[in-house]
Parts: sequence; C-alpha cells; structure tokens
Amino acid sequence: GGFGDLFDLIEQAFGGGFPDWFTADRPSHGADLQYELTIALADVVTGTDTDLEITRQTECQRCEGTGAEPGTRPETCRACGGTGNVTEYRRTILGVMTTRRPCPECGGAGTVVRTPCSECSGTGVVEATQAVHIHVPPGINDGQGIVIPGQGDMPAGGGIPGDLHVRVRVQPHEVLHRRDQSLVMQLDVSFTQAALGDRVTVPTIEGEAEITIPPGTQTNDTVHLRGQGLPPLRGGARGDQIVILRVVTPTDLDDEQRRLLLELAARRGETIDPGDADKSLFDRLRDAFGS
Ligand SMILES: [Zn+2]
Ligand SMILES: [Zn+2]
Repeated sequence: GGFGDLFDLIEQAFGGGFPDWFTADRPSHGADLQYELTIALADVVTGTDTDLEITRQTECQRCEGTGAEPGTRPETCRACGGTGNVTEYRRTILGVMTTRRPCPECGGAGTVVRTPCSECSGTGVVEATQAVHIHVPPGINDGQGIVIPGQGDMPAGGGIPGDLHVRVRVQPHEVLHRRDQSLVMQLDVSFTQAALGDRVTVPTIEGEAEITIPPGTQTNDTVHLRGQGLPPLRGGARGDQIVILRVVTPTDLDDEQRRLLLELAARRGETIDPGDADKSLFDRLRDAFGS
C-alpha cells in the first residue's frame, strides 16, 4: 500500500539503511492478497455487491495473536533485552564503528515464546476462509482493481494486515461491445428495410428496445439509443447505445423476385444488364427458344 511506498522512498533517502529511531517501532506488514472477480456487463450499469470467499492469515483466537499458549506469556528476550536489536562494535582505522542488526535470538521481535500456542504453533496467526464484502461501483472497467485495506494476511507475530486486491473482469456481452461509455452493436438490415424504413426490436443491456430504421438507410448509418450505454466511473449521465446498420444484399433471389427487381430498375430508369451468369435456368431456356 501507500505506506510501503513511503518506507521505500525513505529507505532510498537514507542510502538503504534505516536509522535506529525509524526502525524501532516500525510494525511488520502482512502480505497483500490478489483475487479476481468476474461480473456481467449489465453489472457495470448498476454496480454490484458481492461476497468473496477469501482465505487469509488471521489472528489466532486461541492465543489472541501472541503465539503463547493461553496461561503463558511471551517473555522478554534475554539476548537483546527486549529491544529486538543487537549492537556490534568494531575497531577500525577511523575509530569504533557500531552496527545494529536484528536480534538472532528473537528475530527482532524483542520477545520469545517459551510455550507455543497449540493452535498456531507460536506464529500467532492461523489460516481462515471468510466472506469479504466487495462493492463494485457502476462504470468499472475490465481489469480495474479494487483495494480493500486490511483484508490481506495478518503477519506472524502481529502487526498491520496487508490489503486485499480484487481485479474485476467484465464478461463480454454476446451482442453489445463496450466503447468507453457507449455500447455498440451491429445490425444487419435487408435492402428493402433499408430502402423503405422499418421498426425493429434490438437487445439492450437491460432488455430490449424498438428502434426506427429510417427510409434510405445506408451501410454504417447509426441509430442512437440515448442513455442506454454505460455510466462513467465518477458518476454522471450514461452513454448511448449505438446501433450500426449494415445493409445486406440478397443472394438468394428466385425468378419472380428477380423479375420484380428488373421491373423496379426499369421504372427507376436504370438500364441493367445482369449478364448470362446471373440469369436463371428459366431465363436461359426462354432465350434459347426465343419465346
Ligand atoms: Zn495461537
Ligand atoms: Zn532478542
């Protein structure tokens, strides 16, 4: 977390070594935990609340985190007198140098457990699986992280627990694709629908809606459903759903449909020569017999 970064910065400032006054009371930090949570795209609209089963190191209830069997107490370390550090003196040409390092007897804790707790073997922590409430805000992006402070591992011997990092994965929708706050979909329309206009029902993130395909629609024309997109993460109005229209040319005309289209073309003053390859068997037979 943020404090860890601060310590790193200070450590760099002091050339890699903490001054004694700084390390003396620095509590140990537990490990951060990484979890993943998958939500539906529809959950991005409203946000969602869920409980995650988290397995983490928690304070041992039997010894209340001391590591000592109930009825006993951790004793002050005799090697370091409870300071957790040992000081060594070295004589050099520059004078007497003193260095401090963590006490090897107690590992820097300042106390030793003579009778370890039977539940946690003296570590003061046990593994436990607990439900942790996760609030996912509306507008969250795929891959975005949520940090729940203090829900990581409790360090052995006590201290400050780490944080729980939850990476949110947003499941792709079958039809709707996210583009910032917009939800984009492609809709095929027939060439007659495109020419004449139509009203059709399309899926939305929360159900369905009727849209109007205007007469004279071209491929890549769009229809906007205002406010049917996604909300911004910081709060505010929802984006739009954008329906991109694609005009589909028929490939399966029968003879009657072909005749009607040729008639339409003639009425529109278009001169069309489909060529032999596009003629039906009926047309070719008719041409052959000159009927
Ligand atoms: Zn215990
Ligand atoms: Zn010690």
